[in-house]
Amino acid sequence: MNITTVGIVGAGTMGNGIAQACAVSGINVVMIDIAQAAVDKGLATIGKSLDRLIAKEKMTAADRAAALARIKGSANYDDLKTVQLVIEAATENHELKNKILKQIDALLAPEAIIATNTSSISITQLAAVTQRPDKFVGMHFFNPVPMMALVEIIRGLRTSDATHDAVKALAQRLGKSPITVKNAPGFVVNRILVPMINEAFFVLAEGLATPEDIDAGMKLGCNHPIGPLALADMVGLDVCLAVMEVYLNEFGDSKYRPCPLLREYVAAGRLGRKTGAGVYSYAK
Ligand code: NAD
Repeated sequence: MNITTVGIVGAGTMGNGIAQACAVSGINVVMIDIAQAAVDKGLATIGKSLDRLIAKEKMTAADRAAALARIKGSANYDDLKTVQLVIEAATENHELKNKILKQIDALLAPEAIIATNTSSISITQLAAVTQRPDKFVGMHFFNPVPMMALVEIIRGLRTSDATHDAVKALAQRLGKSPITVKNAPGFVVNRILVPMINEAFFVLAEGLATPEDIDAGMKLGCNHPIGPLALADMVGLDVCLAVMEVYLNEFGDSKYRPCPLLREYVAAGRLGRKTGAGVYSYAK
C-alpha cells in the first residue's frame, strides 16, 4: 500500500511528535484532537521543535515551512475519511480508545489501516472492537518521537502480514528502526525495562547500596545512559507501579511483585520529578 496521507488522532506529546516525524519525511498529515485549542497547541509544539532544528542547522527555514504545510490540524473527524492509515495517539484510557476506534473504523475506507500507539492496552482487544482486525496493528513510538529511533510494531492475533509490512515500511520511511513484537503486556522494551526499575527498588530497600551508587553501577557497568532510579523519577513512580501491577495481574506470576518501597513512595506522593521528589529530591 502506498501511504501518502496519515491521520493522527490526538495532538498531545506523542501525536504531535508522530505528526512532525511524518511531515518532515514528506508524508501528508491530518492531525485531530477534541478541540481546536488542543490542535493549535500541538501545531505550536511542532513549530517550536522545528525551530530548534533550524537553530542547530539541521533544517532550513524552507524545509520547516514545507513540513508545516503538510500538516492539516482539525477538530473534525470527517477530515480523516480519505487517509490510508490512522495512528491513534489519544489519552491512555481503554474506554476512550474503544470509542475512538469504533468511530474511525466507521469513517475510513475498507482498505485503510488503523494503528494504535497505546503503551499498555492489548492490541488484540482493541482490534476486536473494529470490523478490520486484520488491518489493525500497534505502532509504539518512543518519547520524544523526533529523537527516538525505535518503533515497536505489535502484531495482534489477527494482524495480517500485509498490514504489518505496510506499517513497518512506513516506520522506515520516517527514518525509524522498527522491531516486530507479538502482542503481550509491555511488548518488549517496557516488559524488560520496568521490572529492572522495580528490581533497583528492591536493591535500594535491602540497603545494598545508595541510590547514587545503584545508578552509577548500571550506567558504568551496563553502559545505560541513565540509572534505573533516576529513570524512575523521570517516568513517574506511579506509572512504574501501575505497570508492575498490570504485569502481576495479566501474567499471574509473582516475579512481577511491585517492590514495597516503590508502593511506599507512591503512597507518600513522592512520584518523581513531577512532584519535586521521588528517589531523589528536585527541590529548587
Ligand atoms: P497526551 O495527554 O500528551 O495527549 C493525548 C491527547 O489526546 C490530548 O491532546 C487529548 O486532548 C487528546 N484526546 C483525548 N480524547 C480525544 C478524542 N476523543 N479524540 C481526539 N483526541 C483526543 O498523551 P500522550 O503522552 O501523547 O499519550 C498518547 C498515547 O501514546 C497513549 O496511548 C500513551 O500510552 C501512548 N504513549 C505515550 C508515551 C509517552 O512517553 N508519553 C510513549 C509511548 C506511548
